[in-house]
Amino acid sequence: MKNENILILVVDDIISNRLVLSELIEVLGYQSYCCKNGEEAIEFLLKNEVSLILMDIEMPVMNGIETTIHIRKKLTGPKSKLPIIALTAHNPADFQSEFKTAGFDDLLTKPYLLQNVNNAIVKLLKDEE
Ligand SMILES: [Mg+2]
Repeated sequence: MKNENILILVVDDIISNRLVLSELIEVLGYQSYCCKNGEEAIEFLLKNEVSLILMDIEMPVMNGIETTIHIRKKLTGPKSKLPIIALTAHNPADFQSEFKTAGFDDLLTKPYLLQNVNNAIVKLLKDEE
């Protein structure tokens, strides 16, 4: 699939994070759409074809762990298996057990660099093929 036909969903409560990530995604040639919490993200996912999700952990309303568990357990078919990359400012080591339980595929930490974001996306989209 061409990059321009791939839609990547960014879920983060902080507007500056959403802007940085959606800009990087667009520089890489993908489409992006942003949601500010898990509830919005699930609503969007139910109505749209998304290829991959970048998911912040700490968010009001519905956080990234709750949202990922919901996607894995409550959604059906390919939507339940969407690649999900966790976004966190925390030391990934502090987060290892929750990360596995929730069903994330990968993890990105700040600062979000073009090369790191690209590598994580390409690796997971390749696994999907
Ligand atoms: Mg947050």
